[in-house]
Amino acid sequence: MKNQGGHTRRRILKGAICGATGFVLGAPVRSLGAAVSQATSPPAGTLRLSDDLFVVTIPGEANVVAQTSAAGVLLVDGASARGSDALMKAVSSLPGGGSVHTIFNTHWHPEQTGSNEQLGKAGKTIIAHENTRLWLTTDVTWSWNGQRFKRLPKIAQPNKTFYTTGNLESPEERREAVPVGGVRYGYIPDAAHTDGDMYVYFPKQNVLAVGDAVSGQGWPVVDWATGGWIGGIVGGLQRLQTLANEETRIVPGRGPVLGLADLKAQYQMYGTIYDRLTQEASGHGVRLRALAREPRFGALHRDLARAEALLAGPGAQQELAAIDERLRGPHADALAELLQLGPRTRLDAATLSAWIASVEASARRGGGGWTAPALALADLAVDFPIEHDALAAIFMNLLRNAQAAVAGQEDGRVIVRIDRARDVTGRQEVSLALGDSAPAPLTLDIIEARESGRGLAIVRDLVREWRGHLVVRPEAVPFTKVVGACFPL
Ligand SMILES: [Zn+2]
Repeated sequence: MKNQGGHTRRRILKGAICGATGFVLGAPVRSLGAAVSQATSPPAGTLRLSDDLFVVTIPGEANVVAQTSAAGVLLVDGASARGSDALMKAVSSLPGGGSVHTIFNTHWHPEQTGSNEQLGKAGKTIIAHENTRLWLTTDVTWSWNGQRFKRLPKIAQPNKTFYTTGNLESPEERREAVPVGGVRYGYIPDAAHTDGDMYVYFPKQNVLAVGDAVSGQGWPVVDWATGGWIGGIVGGLQRLQTLANEETRIVPGRGPVLGLADLKAQYQMYGTIYDRLTQEASGHGVRLRALAREPRFGALHRDLARAEALLAGPGAQQELAAIDERLRGPHADALAELLQLGPRTRLDAATLSAWIASVEASARRGGGGWTAPALALADLAVDFPIEHDALAAIFMNLLRNAQAAVAGQEDGRVIVRIDRARDVTGRQEVSLALGDSAPAPLTLDIIEARESGRGLAIVRDLVREWRGHLVVRPEAVPFTKVVGACFPL
């Protein structure tokens, strides 16, 4: 069981690193969403939130928040390409309305970014989180239904991006005549819906636009292909609560305007589901957290995924070179740390004694002799970069082999050596070896030729699986040789 869990974990880690998936549980959540979210669309029309702030709903389209001013209109999301013209018409006919000067993309989905092209061509400001821009510069395929999304042309991509927060109140923004009261915006780093989710907050009007990070109708959709996950829904709901008060009106991507109480209720509900899933996952030895969302490894993961996408597409040499540079620079520590994340098994005298006792018991049960081994430990405890069960199997087979070698030998001797050394390239490695006093020769070639599934062949195969190497070397009298396994750290 332990072993299985470990293998699953490694496979998931590998899958994530290869950019294949964030976390697979996103898929059932998404398909459930498709079944449940067919609730009635809100009626077409416009909801006035304040003198200058509106929710514009074009039939069949996601919610758009529009703020009017003398400078024109600021939009949060821009409908799909199909609904773009209707949206622009609706926006220009708002009280105090006009042409759009700025648009926020709360995330990359086509339902939000369909006006980007015409606004970008007109030289307007398109603001999004950097991750959203990245998704819009690459083709995306949803592996659960095969749906493909073409990248947007350069002119339609966000031309102003941010990583954490921003506001439109800085002096240069003021020259653009954004209305007093300004706009604050920020990243929702939990990845509730995608890994580029953002909110836009209008302090004067106390209105918070949250895109699809919160669902106003039906089950929330999780786009796990671009980073969303169930834990992100919960984290996002929690985070957004801290931005809102009892009077805040919260505009989700779909459905009616919500209040703080709605966020709290959703948080309770999804929190409960999330806790259950977490328990379920940990029962399988899996941590319910997408690697993309690891605070330490997220950036690294995104770059690897991005590199993979670029490799599949034409050109983009320059960007690949930049990613390569980041892998060698800012990511270097994270990469090294990631390698340290693998399983570790601590070998100390107590663990060894228990393993030795277990081999002795089965040897005696089998009626064989027993030569009590000596212990030579480099340190009180040495950590091996390999799973407990695999290391135990290696040790016990080495010990059985040594016992068999000295069986019947007058004054046979066996020794267990745990060492720490540097290999020829200077890399640290740890080794676990058994010495014996048997005269019979043994070479790596002999071990290599053994059939799998027994004795030293098990050791050989496990050592290979865990990226170690076998050693056979002569040993000072009273011993003749040492057979062992080395693992680089
Ligand atoms: Zn969406």
